[in-house]
Amino acid sequence: MREALLFQKIDDSKEVLCQLCNHYCKIKPESFGLCRVRMNRDGILYSLTYGKVDGLAIDPIEKKPFFNFKPGTNILSFGTPGCNFKCENCQNNFLSQSIKFKPESLILRQIVPPEEILEVAKKYKVDGLSYTYSEPTIFFEYARDVIIRMKNDPETKDYVHLFVSNGYFSKETFEIIKSEKLLDAINIDLKFFDESHYLSITGGHLKYVLENIEKVFESGIHLEVINLVIPGENDTEESFKSIAKFIISISPEIPLHFNRFYPQYKMSYKPPTSLNSLKIAREIALAEGLHYVYIGNTTLPDVENTYCPKCNFLLVERQNYFTRTHYNKGRKKAVCPKCNTEVNIII
Ligand code: SF4
Repeated sequence: MREALLFQKIDDSKEVLCQLCNHYCKIKPESFGLCRVRMNRDGILYSLTYGKVDGLAIDPIEKKPFFNFKPGTNILSFGTPGCNFKCENCQNNFLSQSIKFKPESLILRQIVPPEEILEVAKKYKVDGLSYTYSEPTIFFEYARDVIIRMKNDPETKDYVHLFVSNGYFSKETFEIIKSEKLLDAINIDLKFFDESHYLSITGGHLKYVLENIEKVFESGIHLEVINLVIPGENDTEESFKSIAKFIISISPEIPLHFNRFYPQYKMSYKPPTSLNSLKIAREIALAEGLHYVYIGNTTLPDVENTYCPKCNFLLVERQNYFTRTHYNKGRKKAVCPKCNTEVNIII
């Protein structure tokens, strides 16, 4: 257990307010927050997941997915148990949800110190780390310690750090991310574009996720957005259009991924998303004016490639996580070799 970074005592009582995510749970002594991995012990809030690493693996960055950030690089990925959402379609439910029934069992699990993560990253010569599989906000103290440890080592100081997030982190958490320059890129899962749906399926409110998408873009941290298209839940043209319009209102440069749903968890009874729905989603988002729209979790041809938004030159070819780049390198971003335009691909 580690003392939490962001919490306040409520008045003179031993009740505490967790400030890590937008649920802002008020937690009584010897009780847990909504994520069930933060516990109030005698007026102090503790993280039960500090260093309780799960799913350590090396993946292509495209698998996260990040398509416009360091294409073709290898990333060390991991998560910890628990989540602040309860998504009925969660593909990692064994990691995110099952611990909620017995959170005390976490106390007995072994801690992997940040130094060990650093050694693994060095050994396998990865390009960076992805905090993923479950919501990284709920293991923020650990992710932060790993990042700080790596930034202080001459060999790993330039590694990139990526959050794959549901976008429900609090303003206090995001202030730390910004002021300490912890992250290079964030992928936010925009699950639905309807408040009542958001609340009933995830337990969170849409407005906080929309606000955070805007905040991340304004901060200059590289941002990509993903929308898992679920049959009968969010596969309408209206939903595709609303998402595209919202993202364009911030910037047409933000990459958008429409991913195919496969039956999972409490939505095991549903069929996979029809390929036609995904093609329609992409066509709508491109017609609205977004520059980079991808389809994921399929073998459809030509829906994972990146083209120059100005002259349509093929900049990055992708198939089954195999990546071939055709751009020139600018100072920080890729440059189209045909029309010489600098494009939003961080190299
Ligand atoms: S991280 Fe979020 S869900 Fe968990 S205790 Fe804190 S406010 Fe509640």
